[in-house]
Amino acid sequence: MTDSKTFFAGLDIGGTTIKSILVDDSGDTVGDMVEVRSHVKEGYEATFAQLELAMERLAGAVGVRPSAIAGIGLDVPAPSSAGVIWGQANLAADWVGCNIRDEFSKRVNLPVTMTNDGNAAALGEYAVRPNLSSGLLCVAPGTGLGGGLVLPSGRAYEGQHGLALEVGHISVPFLEQDGTLPSCSCGLKGCAEAWVSLVALRRRLGIELAQEKWADHPLATDGASIEEKAFQLRDYASQGDPLARHLFQEQANILGHAIADLVRVFDPGLVVIGGGLAEADFRDDYLDWLRDGFSKRAWPMYRHSPLDPTVEITRFQWASGGDSAAALGMACAACDMFG
Ligand SMILES: [Zn+2]
Repeated sequence: MTDSKTFFAGLDIGGTTIKSILVDDSGDTVGDMVEVRSHVKEGYEATFAQLELAMERLAGAVGVRPSAIAGIGLDVPAPSSAGVIWGQANLAADWVGCNIRDEFSKRVNLPVTMTNDGNAAALGEYAVRPNLSSGLLCVAPGTGLGGGLVLPSGRAYEGQHGLALEVGHISVPFLEQDGTLPSCSCGLKGCAEAWVSLVALRRRLGIELAQEKWADHPLATDGASIEEKAFQLRDYASQGDPLARHLFQEQANILGHAIADLVRVFDPGLVVIGGGLAEADFRDDYLDWLRDGFSKRAWPMYRHSPLDPTVEITRFQWASGGDSAAALGMACAACDMFG
């Protein structure tokens, strides 16, 4: 038993599961990721019970008592401010307006730090790059378009109310063929997420398939739903399919455009692209397309050093933290804050 040491738990609450990681007081991972159901739609008390189960399993797997855990980093899939959930997202209604951070802290009698999943993922990507001399901006296309910013100090920038870095909802000037700005899930029009997300991919695929030039495409004659067809696009793009590659190229170009504006504001030095595309085997092409979009919008000083053109001022990397990144980021945040 190593109970003289203290440990910190990172608990990443997702719509389906809680992913959890334990780190020691040096911030090094101890044991493997533990995953349990999150039960977020059954009310937050049901999720609290699962968080405690995850902590017990984390401690048990490395042979320490749960009491050796000295602090917790928690992230939630919803906007929150100072521990209070501000929007329901995929959660049960009772989460909204509740101070989840303080309620869970009281329940387990431990200090808890809490943020949203975008910030947590950014913290995780920072944690897996121990020799990084800068902070980083993380942008993650998934069902939506999330993001987070880690400052060179290693802390996430959350804004005064925890509402910063809603990168998916910055405005981009791209129009559909009929000349309109596409509607976003947030109610606004012309958001980056309305172009760069799985939801956007479904809309764009539907519009493309209605065109004569794709009439013979296998997806045009397939009887599957648009949701199922959109899920197949990654495989099609991997096989060189022109329609799938066109849609991902368009998405990557627009993401690069949006990132150029974010870089103009934050100058992060490193931009990490997260989400499932990090595992796609056409990801090198995607990053080239993204750089094309970035270069069209970013001034030269955000691309290369005027002193040495081989030095990139804004570097791009794929996420490398895998699906435990957010949990690791929160475990390290707890270690940093309470260690
Ligand atoms: Zn929006």
